[in-house]
Amino acid sequence: MEVVWHEFDAVVVGGGGAGLYAALELSRHPDLRVAVFSKVHPLRSHTGAAQGGMGAALGHAEEDRPEWHAFDTVKGGDYLADQDAVEILCFEAIRVVYELEHMGFPFDRAPDGRIEQRVRAGGHTRNFGERPLARSVYAADRTGQMILHTLYQQCLRRGVRFFDEFLVVDVWVEEGACSGVLAWDVRRGGLHGVRAKAVLLATGGWGQIYRTTTNGVTLTGDGPALVWRRGVPLEDMEFYQFHPTGIYGRGILLSEASRGEGAYLVNGLGERFMDRYAPNLLELAPRDVVSRSIFREIQAGRGGGKRGDCVFLDFRHLPEEVRRTKLPEVTALIRTYLGLDPAQDLVPVRPTAHYAVGGIPTDTWGRVLWDGRRQVVEGLYAAGECACVSVHGANRLGTNSLVDILVFGRRAAQGMAKVARSRAMPAAPSAPLDGPAEHFLRLLGARGQESCTRLRLELQDLMERHGSVFRNRGGLQQALQGLWELQERYRRVGLADRGQVYNQELVEAFETGCLLDVAEATAASALHRTESRGTHFREDYPERDDARWLRHTLVWRAAARELRLEDKPVVITRFEPKERRY
Ligand SMILES: Cc1cc2nc3c(=O)[nH]c(=O)nc-3n(C[C@H](O)[C@H](O)[C@H](O)COP(=O)(O)OP(=O)(O)OC[C@H]3O[C@@H](n4cnc5c(N)ncnc54)[C@H](O)[C@@H]3O)c2cc1C
Repeated sequence: MEVVWHEFDAVVVGGGGAGLYAALELSRHPDLRVAVFSKVHPLRSHTGAAQGGMGAALGHAEEDRPEWHAFDTVKGGDYLADQDAVEILCFEAIRVVYELEHMGFPFDRAPDGRIEQRVRAGGHTRNFGERPLARSVYAADRTGQMILHTLYQQCLRRGVRFFDEFLVVDVWVEEGACSGVLAWDVRRGGLHGVRAKAVLLATGGWGQIYRTTTNGVTLTGDGPALVWRRGVPLEDMEFYQFHPTGIYGRGILLSEASRGEGAYLVNGLGERFMDRYAPNLLELAPRDVVSRSIFREIQAGRGGGKRGDCVFLDFRHLPEEVRRTKLPEVTALIRTYLGLDPAQDLVPVRPTAHYAVGGIPTDTWGRVLWDGRRQVVEGLYAAGECACVSVHGANRLGTNSLVDILVFGRRAAQGMAKVARSRAMPAAPSAPLDGPAEHFLRLLGARGQESCTRLRLELQDLMERHGSVFRNRGGLQQALQGLWELQERYRRVGLADRGQVYNQELVEAFETGCLLDVAEATAASALHRTESRGTHFREDYPERDDARWLRHTLVWRAAARELRLEDKPVVITRFEPKERRY
C-alpha cells in the first residue's frame, strides 16, 4: 500500500487537554511546524467530559499553599507518587490556571471578581490533613468542555495544523530514538507516514478494558500499547481507579462536584455510612476509599435497589439554586438516564471504572524512558492520562488530572521545542510497514471467523470480574490466562467491512488489539504486587507493605504469554510514608 509522506518539527498525537496545551505551547515558536493527529475531532476528546474541576492552591476562598496540595496528592496516592514530580504539579498548577484565565477561560467567579474556589473535592485538605479545603476552580460542571474550547480556539488562531480523524497505528522507535508515526486516514482511507523530530503521545486513558466505565468507547490505551509493542515498559499498570458514583447500570459519571456541593451517600437502609470508613472526611475521602466502602456496604447486605447492589446519592437537601447553577450537567444526566428528579428522588449509584493511574514512564519533562528508569527515547514524549510521570502514585485525587494534563503537556512541549531545533530530521524507517504496522495492515483484509465486538465484550467481562476493585491471585491468574486466549483468537479476527472509507469496524478492531495489550499489562502487574495500596486491593494481601512494595512496577512483554516484571524506587523528597487515615 502506498504511503503519503509528511514532515513536521513536532507532532502531537491526541487532541485532548494534554495534546492541545502542548500544541499551543509549541506554536509560540513561529519557526516550528506543528501538527496534531487525533482519531476523533479534538473537541470530542474525553477531556470534554470532565465536569468537576481543577485543583490549584490559589487560596482565593481560604488560605492555601502548594505544599499542602502536594502533601494531599502524595497521601492520596498512598505514598507511591514521585514527590519531585508532585511538587512541580502543585506549584505550576497555579500558573497554568492564570494562563487559562488570560486565554479567556470562563471560570466561575466570586462576588469580588476573582476566580471562585468554593467547591471541595475528595482528599484535598488544609495544613497537611487538618480538615477539608476548597481548592478546585471550575466553569460550572463543564470545566473540561471549556478547557477544550479555550485551547482549540487558541491553537487555530496560531496556525496549528490539525489532522482530524487520523488514527495513529505505529510509533517508530528504533535504537533508542523516535523518527515519527504511521497514521491511517479514517475519513478517506490511506496510510500517512509522518517524520518528526519530536513526537508527543497524549492519547488518554483505557477505561474500555472494563464493562462498566465512565470512559467513552474511544478510550482504548492506543499510546501505551504502541510503545509497549516497540519495547518500552509500562509503569504502575495495576493501579486503575474506580469512581464511587457512576449511574447505576450504566457507569456514566456523576461528578465528585456533587459531593463537593454537599450531596451525600446513603445505603439501602437510608443510613449515611461513610462515618464507618472515613470519620473525618466522610464522602470527601479519596475515591479508592469511598469505592471500597460502597462495596463493603453492598457485601454486608446493606445495599439498595431491587438487587441490593447499589447505594444512593442524596441531593434532596441541596438548595434548588445549587442544583441549577452548580450542577446543571449532573442534574441533566440523572433526568436523562434514570428519569429521576434529584430534588425528590434518591439517585442509585455504583462504582465505575474511571481513570488509568499508570502508563508510559516519563521523566518530569515528559521524556519517555526506554528502560523505565533513566535512559530516554530521543524525540519521544508522553503526557496526560496515558503517561506515568508519576504524580498520582497509587490513586489519583479528584481535580488532579486536569492539572496534570496541562502542567505536563506544557512542560513536554517546552522540551520538544528545544529538540525540534537541535535535532536533524530523522530518516524514515527503512521498512515503515513492518513490525506493529504489519498487524494493522493484516486487519484491513482480515477474513477470519472471530468477531472483534465479541472479543471486546469478553475482555471487559474478564477484567470486570477479576481485575476491578477487589482482586486475588486466583482471579488474576484466570484473567491473564483468559487474556492470552483472547490474544490468540484476535489473530483470527474477520471484518465484514472491507472498504477503506470510514471503516469504523477497522478502527474498532485496531483498538481491541490495544485493549488486549493494556489489559494484559494491568493483570500481570496486579498479580505481581502482593500488597494492597491505593486503588489496588488484594484480598489475599490486604495490608500495605512498604518494606517490600514502596516501589513502582515496570512491565515488559518478552514474548507471547511471557512478561517481564521489575520494580524501581519511589522518589521521596519531604513526605515520609505514614499510615493513611481519613
Ligand atoms: C467522565 C469523566 C469526568 C472527569 N472529570 C474530571 C474532573 O472533573 N477533574 C479532573 O481533574 N479529571 C477528570 N477526569 C479525568 C480527566 O478528564 C482525564 O484524565 C483527562 O481529560 C485526559 O486528558 P488527555 O488529554 O490525557 O486525554 P483525552 O482528553 O482523553 O484525549 C485523548 C486524545 O487522544 C486521541 N487519540 C487516542 N488514541 C489515538 C490514536 N491511536 N491516534 C490518534 N489519536 C488518538 C483522541 O482522539 C483524543 O483526542 C474525568 C474523566 C472522565 C472520563
